[in-house]
Amino acid sequence: MDFSLTTEQEILRRSVRDFAEKVIKPTARELDEKEEFSYETMAAMAELGLFGCVVSEEYGGQGMDYLSYIIATEEIARVDGSHAATVAAGNSLGISPIYYFGNEEQKRKYLPKLCSGEGLWGFGLTEANAGSDAGHTQTTAKEDGDSWVINGSKIFITNASTDISLGVTILVQTGRGQDGRNELSCILVENGTPGFEAVPMHGKMMWRGSNTSALYFEDCRVPKENLLGPRGAGFHQMLQTLDGGRLSIAAMGLGGAQGCYDLAMRYAKEREQFGRPISTFQVNAFKLADMALEIECARLLLYKACWLMDTGQTISKVAAMAKLHCSEVMYRCANHAVQLHGGYGLMKEYDVERFYRDQKLLEIGEGTSEVQRIVIARLIGAL
Ligand SMILES: Cc1cc2nc3c(=O)[nH]c(=O)nc-3n(C[C@H](O)[C@H](O)[C@H](O)COP(=O)(O)OP(=O)(O)OC[C@H]3O[C@@H](n4cnc5c(N)ncnc54)[C@H](O)[C@@H]3O)c2cc1C
Repeated sequence: MDFSLTTEQEILRRSVRDFAEKVIKPTARELDEKEEFSYETMAAMAELGLFGCVVSEEYGGQGMDYLSYIIATEEIARVDGSHAATVAAGNSLGISPIYYFGNEEQKRKYLPKLCSGEGLWGFGLTEANAGSDAGHTQTTAKEDGDSWVINGSKIFITNASTDISLGVTILVQTGRGQDGRNELSCILVENGTPGFEAVPMHGKMMWRGSNTSALYFEDCRVPKENLLGPRGAGFHQMLQTLDGGRLSIAAMGLGGAQGCYDLAMRYAKEREQFGRPISTFQVNAFKLADMALEIECARLLLYKACWLMDTGQTISKVAAMAKLHCSEVMYRCANHAVQLHGGYGLMKEYDVERFYRDQKLLEIGEGTSEVQRIVIARLIGAL
């Protein structure tokens, strides 16, 4: 077994870390405070090559392996959750379904603009009445001549209503299967299509610098060729997309946990009480030791999941484990980091306050922790 990263992966980590420290860190707190999506940092992230990470160069992508993409996401998340969300959702939810399931024409039409970061694309599963149970989607697409006519709505969709959002892939009912169940398919809808509106959502506790939207479809007519892959393949496409997406959420958990640890370590060594650095009290040193241990284990699990992905093996179980574990590791690390900062950790001038809030989405998005435990329990044969 060889645990070393390649020279390219080491260089990538260093360059993304350097970028995150110099470009994202100085703006992250203010963007969070103002609940603002930054087009400037988006353009800078695109310039660095953070979109279309695993897409082949033929479609304008960066041609990286999955582990490299995860390392890049981890390094952005080490500094800020909102920017990491833009990157993770942009790659795993926006670009991936088109890359993996799109036909040649769809790939040529959309991928170059999405991989260059000129545009963003959303992935709409969640509805007001279909969250964890996304297969229960109620948005419909009915055939009418050469078109699909879409009616319904989606909620909480990342990257769908920025000024550069070009469209969304949505999961819709296209009829009933032979077994009487809903037939689910994925359809591409471009922004600006009459009958489609993407409205920004405000008032989030976390990821306040990332874009979240409600989507409304009212007799929205799109050409028949906007179907993604075969009719009725939507559920399978959703599961496969979420497997990859879970690795990117895990990367956000791991990177966020590392960010909390780095901040807590520095503060605990600088802050003195009772005439000595607070890190020298055993109870605090043990908190830091626990964080270091948990981060090490989380990284091993996530990188193993990437290895499975890069070698073409089944990842569903390990992706669910990595997503669940890394998000819970960040939860514990954020909690320790705030505790080590004392009262200052509760103030907005200290980044651990933002990390503490940003962490919570990781236990909810792309399948809650409860859902991950159900997935794992099924895959190990316990349920
Ligand atoms: C900022 C943000 C960004 C998001 N981005 C996207 C996006 O880009 N695309 C997208 O499609 N969605 C997105 N989501 C939606 C997210 O994936 C859902 O919120 C999540 O899947 C949970 O669905 P829900 O909120 O409806 O909760 P519910 O499904 O109503 O769950 C509520 C609680 O019940 C529990 N629960 C539900 N079912 C079970 C069960 N069978 N057994 C045990 N417990 C259960 C859950 O674990 C949870 O604790 C985003 C959400 C947020 C907040």
